[in-house]
Amino acid sequence: MLNDDEILANLHDVRTRIDRAAAQRRHGSGDVRLLLATKTVPADRIAVVVTAGERLLGENRVQELAQKDEYLSALPCERHLIGHLQSNKVNQALRYVTCIQSLDRVELADRLQRRLDTLDTTVDVLLQVNTSGETSKFGVPPDEALTLARQTAKLDRLRIQGLMTIGLPASDADLIRPSYRRLREARDRIRDAQIDGVHMGTLSMGMSADLDIAIDEGSTMVRVGSGVFGARPRP
Ligand SMILES: *Cc1c(COP(=O)(O)O)cnc(C)c1O
Repeated sequence: MLNDDEILANLHDVRTRIDRAAAQRRHGSGDVRLLLATKTVPADRIAVVVTAGERLLGENRVQELAQKDEYLSALPCERHLIGHLQSNKVNQALRYVTCIQSLDRVELADRLQRRLDTLDTTVDVLLQVNTSGETSKFGVPPDEALTLARQTAKLDRLRIQGLMTIGLPASDADLIRPSYRRLREARDRIRDAQIDGVHMGTLSMGMSADLDIAIDEGSTMVRVGSGVFGARPRP
């Protein structure tokens, strides 16, 4: 586990990379948000970046959100779910997060809508798109994203804010850029369809190894874990 100074130095480097990529990008405009991906990172390490001014965290598992909640709910930060959400974990997930970035099926959208009706509240969602074609990844194929947007738009408790995709391993450098381009193109098609209540302001793509490419292709939110907190323990 890295000490405070190492984490802060990494954070500074990542912020510098983001600024540089944003200044040179070919697609997109405006700020690029940084989400810190905190799976397996202990709450006291997460507190280091929040104290440094970071406000956006992402967790992959509901169980880990629950474990860290006592600590993190006292900090001035916003949490997103960035991992796969099982339908039977919907009620629990909604206790901790303001955005679900992994909406990948209409059954899950229906389940969220029912629970949000009971709670009389709303949640932000991103539609997860599988842009790499790897069968191990969740998300709808790019050509089904518009259909999922239309179906989800009928559910008034879900506020669609954009799209999310998980990139390829860094070793697939030649495939990374086309995969991020596919997310941007899917975003453009949905935007062009002008569906009521559907916003496409967020393109959540890019991780530690490839955030520069993602920003060049129009990312508005990069999700960085190991680049700030160091290598994760192997599962
Ligand atoms: C772990 C994770 C990240 C961050 O990956 P790093 O390579 O550690 O930066 C981003 N997005 C998702 C969905 C993740 O699970």
